[in-house]
Amino acid sequence: ELRADEITAWFGDRKVLDRVSLTMPAGEVTALIGPSGCGKSTFLRILNRMHELVPSASLSGRVLLGEQDVYAPDQRLTDARRRIGMVFQKPNPFPAMSIYENTIAALDLTGQKADRATKDFLVEDSLRKASLWDEVRDRLHQPAGGLSGGQQQRLCIARAMAIAPQVLLMDEPCSALDPTSTRRVEETIGELREQVTIVIVTHNMQQAARVSDQCAFFLAAQNQPGVIVEYGDTEAMFSDPQDPRTHDYVNGRF
Ligand code: ATP
Ligand code: MG
Repeated sequence: ELRADEITAWFGDRKVLDRVSLTMPAGEVTALIGPSGCGKSTFLRILNRMHELVPSASLSGRVLLGEQDVYAPDQRLTDARRRIGMVFQKPNPFPAMSIYENTIAALDLTGQKADRATKDFLVEDSLRKASLWDEVRDRLHQPAGGLSGGQQQRLCIARAMAIAPQVLLMDEPCSALDPTSTRRVEETIGELREQVTIVIVTHNMQQAARVSDQCAFFLAAQNQPGVIVEYGDTEAMFSDPQDPRTHDYVNGRF
């Protein structure tokens, strides 16, 4: 499981998250929902230490993957990124690079060496995991830029899965996709949930209801840092929210 413990985050002297704690159980899909600007992406990026890429960013609190502190001084950054993969809102394969090379691109970043046969296996296995293999098996050596947006996003999922992460973070992975591609990605999430702990940010309440087991509702009052107002079982949260603000949000009232 992945656990965030009392995370407080700043950009410069502006506090954007205030003591956010959340357990994301292994084998489950956790959805992060809430209005724009409440800190969902910031929280997600903190989970795999991408937050550190912003020079003005700082934080307190802990992130634990199993027993391991992701931010411990002896933890290498590449280890954290290898164990916690990420997929972004806008599909971002390397467009001029082939589908094959894109799929295994993250291997280089983690310093792993693989021979041709290992790569061939990994490419097929990862593309299958991302439900893309059948569509691209005949054109593995063509540029990824020729794929549709939905295919590109599934390629990004394959690329993340190729390094066998324990956690897959997804920041609005379907918001740039048409409904059909969105469905495909949702089906892929459903198939991956057994293999990898998934955390997904979404503005689409139907999507949160369809794909997630657990839901966390983030909210930031005017000029205040984001907090988790309510979290728990997705079905319960949608049918019987405990906080009136959750009720209003999941029913599209703000
Ligand atoms: P959205 O739903 O629109 O994606 P979000 O919930 O993901 O919003 P964040 O992107 O995490 O929200 O932003 C939280 C707050 O932190 C916002 O007030 C935003 O302006 C601020 N913020 C985000 N990134 C940076 C940055 N690199 N530098 C300074 N402030 C930032
Ligand atoms: Mg965001």
